[in-house]
Amino acid sequence: MQTNKIFSNIRVVLVGTTHPGNIGASARAMKNMGLNNLFLVNPKEFPAPRATWRAANAADILDNAIVVETIDQAIEGCSLVIGTSARDRRIPWPTLDARDCGNRVVNEARSHKVAILFGREDRGLSNEELQKCTYHMNIPTDSEYSSLNLAMAVQLLCYEIRMAFLENSKDNLTWDQPLATADQLESFYDHLFSTLVTLKFYDPENPKQLITRLKRLFSRVRLDQMEVSILRGLLSSIERNLKR
Ligand code: SAH
Repeated sequence: MQTNKIFSNIRVVLVGTTHPGNIGASARAMKNMGLNNLFLVNPKEFPAPRATWRAANAADILDNAIVVETIDQAIEGCSLVIGTSARDRRIPWPTLDARDCGNRVVNEARSHKVAILFGREDRGLSNEELQKCTYHMNIPTDSEYSSLNLAMAVQLLCYEIRMAFLENSKDNLTWDQPLATADQLESFYDHLFSTLVTLKFYDPENPKQLITRLKRLFSRVRLDQMEVSILRGLLSSIERNLKR
């Protein structure tokens, strides 16, 4: 019973997948481990016979898959967003291995919605997409060859999620306020950056890494909804005073 509630709060999001066979194999990997919410962001070819064939007895996951055009649609309402990546990026971000990630996802999914993003076969997730994520997850492979097949990466993380659930991790997330969701954070960032432009603290023509660093800062803190509304109130007050 508990499994259903926790697992139904977890979304697997495949971004820009090229090979429909990988979509089918990911659906099978999910169903084997008890997960069933599949989101597809702009798949190249779906529905497709090769996806159904590779899904075997998990065709129901494909039938119920939600196809959307943007990542923002896929992560709407999620307080924890994980971006999986085969390689290090220019600006380091809080990063988990698959085991830690499984534990965090299960704990969070007791009370909140969680999305796990998997990238394109040829180039993974873009930096901008990865910056929407609370954590990055990297499967520590041999450095000679770090990139797993997409569906194998999905399998591995779904397995860790299942193991974490079975181990029934005790450190429940308890907090007096619901955590901010991805869409609430995105609106907060928009508000923050427009205020910073008005203040002339931030020049969009010469952005450097300011935006990335601020997103990383707030992402590390795990803002709750009350904190977001306090910060937005503060921004509105700055704007009102600037206008005077
Ligand atoms: N050349 C791409 C690799 C894409 S592999 C790149 O450099 O990013 C397709 C997807 O599988 C990745 O976007 C990621 O979601 C997942 N994946 C593959 N290897 C992984 C690894 N070692 N750790 C975490 N995710 C991985």
